[in-house]
Amino acid sequence: MVSAPSLQRRAFLRGRQTLETPLRPPWAGDEGVFLDACTSCLACVAACPAGVLVERDGRHPVFDPRRGECTFCAACVEACAPHALDFGRAEQPWQLKAEIGNACLAQRGVVCLSCRDVCGEAAIRFRPAPGGARPDLDRERCTGCGACVGVCPTAAIVVAPAQEAGRER
Ligand code: SF4
Ligand code: SF4
Ligand code: SF4
Repeated sequence: MVSAPSLQRRAFLRGRQTLETPLRPPWAGDEGVFLDACTSCLACVAACPAGVLVERDGRHPVFDPRRGECTFCAACVEACAPHALDFGRAEQPWQLKAEIGNACLAQRGVVCLSCRDVCGEAAIRFRPAPGGARPDLDRERCTGCGACVGVCPTAAIVVAPAQEAGRER
C-alpha cells in the first residue's frame, strides 16, 4: 500500500499543489487542538483580506497559497471567537516552507525569475549552472507566505509543513 506522504510527494514531484495535507490558517498550532476548538464558523475565511483562506469540504478552513500570499496581517486570528487561531498557540504563525519541484522552467534551461522577484524575504536566489541559472530556496528565510506559488507559470512550487518539505531531494 502506498502511504499518504508518498502520494503527496508524488503529486509534488509532478509539480502540483496537493490538497492531501491541510494547510491550516496561521496561528492554528497543533492540528488536534485546532480541530477541537474550531467550530467551522469560517469567520477567518470571511475576514482574510487576501482571500487566501477557503473552507474545505464545508468544514474547517485551509490556506490555499494558489490564491495568493498570506501577509500575516492576523485578521483571521482576531476574527476567531473560539480562539482556534490564537497567538498563544504557537511561537511562529506556522511551520510551512516552500519547495520547488521538477516542473520549474529554469531547471529546463528556460529563463524565469518570477518566484525570486515576488519573494519579499529574498529566500529564492539563483545559482549559476550549466544550461542556465537554477533557483535555490533558503529555508531559513522562507516564511511559507505562498507568494511564489501562484506566480509560478508551471505550478512548480508548493508550500508544505516543514517536516515534509525538503525530504528525499
Ligand atoms: S494572516 Fe491575514 S492574510 Fe494571512 S490568512 Fe490570516 S487574514 Fe489572511
Ligand atoms: S517561478 Fe516557477 S518556473 Fe519560474 S524559476 Fe521559479 S519555480 Fe521555476
Ligand atoms: S513562500 Fe514566501 S518567503 Fe517562502 S520562498 Fe515563497 S515567496 Fe519567499
